[in-house]
Amino acid sequence: MANLTRKPFSTKTKKIEWMLASGRNPYDNSGKLCFVKTSKCRECKRPLTWGDRTYDFDHKDNNPANTSQTNCYLVCKVCHGKYTVVKKRRIKGWFGETVGHETIKKKVGYKKPKKKPKKTRKVAIRGFFGEVVGYRTVKIRKRKTGKKTKRKTKKRKSR
Ligand SMILES: [Zn+2]
Repeated sequence: MANLTRKPFSTKTKKIEWMLASGRNPYDNSGKLCFVKTSKCRECKRPLTWGDRTYDFDHKDNNPANTSQTNCYLVCKVCHGKYTVVKKRRIKGWFGETVGHETIKKKVGYKKPKKKPKKTRKVAIRGFFGEVVGYRTVKIRKRKTGKKTKRKTKKRKSR
């Protein structure tokens, strides 16, 4: 068998991913693990119900031995199938006859979350005579635009 190294995610890992996929905080204020029976597919946002077998916990990096929390990815069966391409390869025998088939799983890859626009700008580096020598990127710092500054009133010591 090809999937000898396949390890299932722990129930705790699954439940945390389940909660995160639904947009909920898996932990309450006291740090206790919460659980709600409904969640959503990470890809198509289809509603899912715990235990109804319409979903999978996919190994994000395609490494079945990596059962870390960050590698756990909740998707419905439709999306799992869509993003994992299964190919069948014929196993040839000595005389070219078909001995059997082996399945090859290939991950196509999920949509990557949109990256935030970079908060950098290019600043020209000028040489001795004011000519542009090159450019360097500078991080743009956001300044609070509020003109009014709250003055802290010092409390008078009351006797
Ligand atoms: Zn889906």
